[in-house]
Amino acid sequence: MTTLLDDFLSGDRSRVMPAVWETIRSRDPETLDSLLAALPRLRRAAAQLDLGGAIYSNNDHFAHALSKLEHYRDGKCWCAVYPGLLTHDPRKEETQGHIRILSTSEPGWSMTYLCECTVCGQEFDIEQGDHHFTWWNWVPRGLKRRRGEV
Ligand SMILES: [Zn+2]
Repeated sequence: MTTLLDDFLSGDRSRVMPAVWETIRSRDPETLDSLLAALPRLRRAAAQLDLGGAIYSNNDHFAHALSKLEHYRDGKCWCAVYPGLLTHDPRKEETQGHIRILSTSEPGWSMTYLCECTVCGQEFDIEQGDHHFTWWNWVPRGLKRRRGEV
């Protein structure tokens, strides 16, 4: 039986990308712990691979999976995975119980959501747009203010 780590290190794009997406989605400590132990090898694999990508770079998604592992290692909330990637549909996240949608603008292709993480209560402003496919840009509330204070 092959593991997620085997897929990551296979050098085969058709195996690496599903492993990348599964890592980004996963909230399973057993899965994530096994990958964390191999983080240096994963970083090397990420540096050596050219994963291509038609609209967005698959290498960026691999990098996002690695930073998700770092957030997990550092004890950050699951919702730390949302900013920086345009593929998290707030309605799907709500269906899974990960977030609550507090309010939205008038529904349409281009609209906004205000959401709250059900684990830590962090609020996000989400902008939905359409460029080849629907995307969502998650911006945590309060971040700008904190940055200004430093
Ligand atoms: Zn959270």
